[in-house]
Amino acid sequence: MIPLDVAAAAYTGAVGRPYSPHRSAGGCARCAGTTETMTPTGQVVSRRFTGYETWTNLSSRVLCEVCVWAYRHLPLRSCAHIITADPPTMLEATPAQLQQALAQPLPAGTAVTVPAPLWRKHLLPDARWGQINVDGSNITWRTDDAQRLEVMSALRKVGFTERDLRTPAPPHRVLRTLEHRLWAQILEDWQTLDPWRSAPSWWITAARASEPDHRRT
Ligand SMILES: [Zn+2]
Repeated sequence: MIPLDVAAAAYTGAVGRPYSPHRSAGGCARCAGTTETMTPTGQVVSRRFTGYETWTNLSSRVLCEVCVWAYRHLPLRSCAHIITADPPTMLEATPAQLQQALAQPLPAGTAVTVPAPLWRKHLLPDARWGQINVDGSNITWRTDDAQRLEVMSALRKVGFTERDLRTPAPPHRVLRTLEHRLWAQILEDWQTLDPWRSAPSWWITAARASEPDHRRT
């Protein structure tokens, strides 16, 4: 069993401070842990906040340092992150790093968060080990997903945009720029992506991981 909660491992990795939760009834409303500083819930989440499902200590009105950080650390809401349990680490992942992590099934001691482009929800507090939290939903990542990501990435490299890939057939505008001998493979690859066209969580993840990486030097 992996002892640390994903948010606690991310906090330990990112802030560099080990976190050993001491659970108590008067502890944090989300994780029941107690830290030196406790912050009133109303100062951290807004009145419109709806993510209480995973809070374990709802009678409490305060949040611990780890949970406050998990809700306030802004990059978590715009960039993909890869968190490991042992040792506790958190990486703000570039598309290339995300792609590398998703080139195989996700290991049990790793969690990934992927925000949707315009929908900035809190993901880390609900992340689980061995899963990807995409825009608030936890999904698994298996061998066939890793293979499909490779296909999506290859199609983007030859010139199809993410929007092109959402359509049921490859647009002629791009096809005609490619050698004829490649067409049959492209049509086959296009079909490989079919299951994802109706599975937005997988699509958002793969689209992020196959993005051309502008930050790479
Ligand atoms: Zn907490």
